[in-house]
Amino acid sequence: MTPDQLHPALADLDAQSLRRVRRVLDGAQGARVILDGKPYLSFSSNDYLGLANHPAIATAAAGVAERCGVGAGAAHLLTGHHRLHHELEVELAEFVGLPAALLFSTGYMASLGVLPALLDRHGEVFEDKLNHASLVDAALLSRAKLTRYPHCDLAALEQRLAASTAKVKLIATDTVFSMDGDLAPLADLLALARRYDAWLYLDDAHGFGVLGERGEGALALLAGALNAPHDARLIYLATLGKAAGVAGAFVASSADLVEWLVNKARTYVFTTAQPPLLAAAVSASLRVIAADGWRRAHLHGLIARLKTGLAGLPWPLMPSDTPIQPLLVGGNAEALRLADGLRDQGILLPAIRPPTVPQGEARLRISLSAAHSLDDVATLAAALRGLARHD
Ligand SMILES: *Cc1c(COP(=O)(O)O)cnc(C)c1O
Repeated sequence: MTPDQLHPALADLDAQSLRRVRRVLDGAQGARVILDGKPYLSFSSNDYLGLANHPAIATAAAGVAERCGVGAGAAHLLTGHHRLHHELEVELAEFVGLPAALLFSTGYMASLGVLPALLDRHGEVFEDKLNHASLVDAALLSRAKLTRYPHCDLAALEQRLAASTAKVKLIATDTVFSMDGDLAPLADLLALARRYDAWLYLDDAHGFGVLGERGEGALALLAGALNAPHDARLIYLATLGKAAGVAGAFVASSADLVEWLVNKARTYVFTTAQPPLLAAAVSASLRVIAADGWRRAHLHGLIARLKTGLAGLPWPLMPSDTPIQPLLVGGNAEALRLADGLRDQGILLPAIRPPTVPQGEARLRISLSAAHSLDDVATLAAALRGLARHD
């Protein structure tokens, strides 16, 4: 791309209806938002527990801002590693039941740091076809061979593992798939990782806070399979900007792995530490996540209401028991018509089209939050029924 190619390339995106634009949010993230100056009922955030605007979390951050200011001022290996970061890492490890944890500035950066710290061109990374872009990019950056397997297809994965001659193998998967809402077969993946002596890298961006009795995430589903207190091949990533309502991410695993990352993960070493006020906010968020079981219970009520409310529509909900509830529309134009029609009625949710999802599988990605009421879900269902009649 040269400077004079940019403008025609952007026009080309326009012509294909692929140009992405940003809308400006005023005020707080939540079930109701002001976007480009207009009020909407929104089903398009990842704020699954409704914590992005939680007063106790904001107060924790504000208190640290008053005492310590905002900037971390340096990387963790220089003078930026604040006591609040240090204490939060201990809390996070305990929360997910693994020996040690390491904070990263974002989930994207965490994966870009971890995979290249473990693999080089002699390694091989095995990835589900529907994995998040950050996992694909992390594998490419590591220079290991990248082998993708069909979505949740364990037989195909096993075949590829058996055929591999790589010295270091790593299986990477989303736990909850971000555009489908379904769960990876975690116990079976762990069994394969053990059989073929591979790392298992779990990206729990959409499970942390949501899954498990206390919101401890996808590892709760593995508790039976992880009969040892921990398995050194397991590497767990959770992001803190989604259900936790703050920002950042952490990787949890053995103490040795965390020490290795402190030394070798370039996205850890060569970046400024997050503001310590965010660590205080995450710490406050963990307390709310654990204490407010009602938020997860309410989410399940919303999911059930959505399923009954949308039954009989021309478009099926995809099989999912998580707050990600995609309505499979099929055609791109139809998905856009529905999203536009909803927006005209003050309801916001994204039409997800190829290449984000396969051709012919355009969908409306309904994302539920504990901040929604049952009435909000009924409003969405009624609006969709209205749009179905004008098919
Ligand atoms: C959002 C997301 C990430 C990136 O996390 P950030 O903290 O937003 O950078 C990684 N993996 C998955 C599956 C995600 O959905």
